[in-house]
Amino acid sequence: MTNHLDSDIAELREAALGYGARHHVIADCAWPEGKRIAVNFTADFDAMLLRRVLNEPPMQLAKGEFGGRVGIWRLIELFDGHGVKATIFTPGRICELYPEAVKAAAHSGHEIADHMWEHRVPKEPELEADHLRRATAAIERLTGRRPVGTRSWHTSALLRQEGYIYNSRKVPDHRPHYIRDEKGPEGMLNLPFHYAIDDAMFYNFAWLNTENAAQRMADPDRVFEIWWAAFWQQYQAGGYLNICLHPFVSGRALRIAMLDRLIGRMKTLPGVWFPSCEEVARHCLRACPPACTGRLTGDAEDALEGRLYHLRRARHPRCGTALARQPPLLRQPGGGPESALRPRGNSRRGPQDAGGALRHPWRAGRAARRAAAPPPPRDLRRAGGDRRDPCGEGAGAAR
Ligand SMILES: [Zn+2]
Repeated sequence: MTNHLDSDIAELREAALGYGARHHVIADCAWPEGKRIAVNFTADFDAMLLRRVLNEPPMQLAKGEFGGRVGIWRLIELFDGHGVKATIFTPGRICELYPEAVKAAAHSGHEIADHMWEHRVPKEPELEADHLRRATAAIERLTGRRPVGTRSWHTSALLRQEGYIYNSRKVPDHRPHYIRDEKGPEGMLNLPFHYAIDDAMFYNFAWLNTENAAQRMADPDRVFEIWWAAFWQQYQAGGYLNICLHPFVSGRALRIAMLDRLIGRMKTLPGVWFPSCEEVARHCLRACPPACTGRLTGDAEDALEGRLYHLRRARHPRCGTALARQPPLLRQPGGGPESALRPRGNSRRGPQDAGGALRHPWRAGRAARRAAAPPPPRDLRRAGGDRRDPCGEGAGAAR
């Protein structure tokens, strides 16, 4: 019995050692001059594709379709109105189904990044490469620009070969970090997100074929409070926040209104940076390339006992930078951050209740865009989305 336990623990420590050796946090994650926090708004433009891959019921497919017809347009309007550069992770198949939406997002200056060809990565290396190349080409065809970012399970070696510089999927740390390949010395930058900051965890029932008992239909005000608290914690630490949205989930009106209030409140603070993931990645690669990084986990003991924060207070042995630069905690005038930062009046109201266009950049931005006369997305909505019927033959995961 004891021998079994010893060997189990030895095995765990071996695994933790290997894991720790491959994961490298970026030492002293400092942002450009004047920026205290980087906030990435990322949208996984899955529409009904993931639903089909998982063989979910028809109503789930309809929910996904809403994301392509309406949700994505609302998110683009929201981000444009606030001057936020978002990153839209787009499967290649979605480029075929909703080309106008992808083009409009790119035209607004948002980053269009890869989210696999049909939301899965084949096991066969040749087929995997074929999928990645198809997805890359589909995005390039619509945007005129080759994507450099991905949210996928593709192997790092293949991604590098195809010109990708970052991934955004794993969550071993809350700051950008490097993950080295299991075989070989090279790795890839990862911009982590977390399921606690993922709209699907709060607003979506039957997610991934779950039973009704697992329904998650949170009040947007509650999600606002949770995400604001996460932002505030990272703001104080001079950190990073990656907010993961899905157009078919967050595209609903009340949730858009919540995001409008959330971004508006973030913008009341100095030093909040809303770049695309590509901008963050290029900054990290330039300011702290892989050669100058600290180990995320020191050894098996640290990994097993969770002493990451203790380790980070040390200085990196090679470059000498502090592994955890922790700015002093901020105190808001007039009490805690909640009361001091809450806008005058009832901040829980939706935009339509709270005043005119000047107080609501989303509305002001919409008016400005109308004046500039870009192709009107509403016409497309009335016409039922993009040219191809997403419910029709050949849509979704099946070829
Ligand atoms: Zn997805």
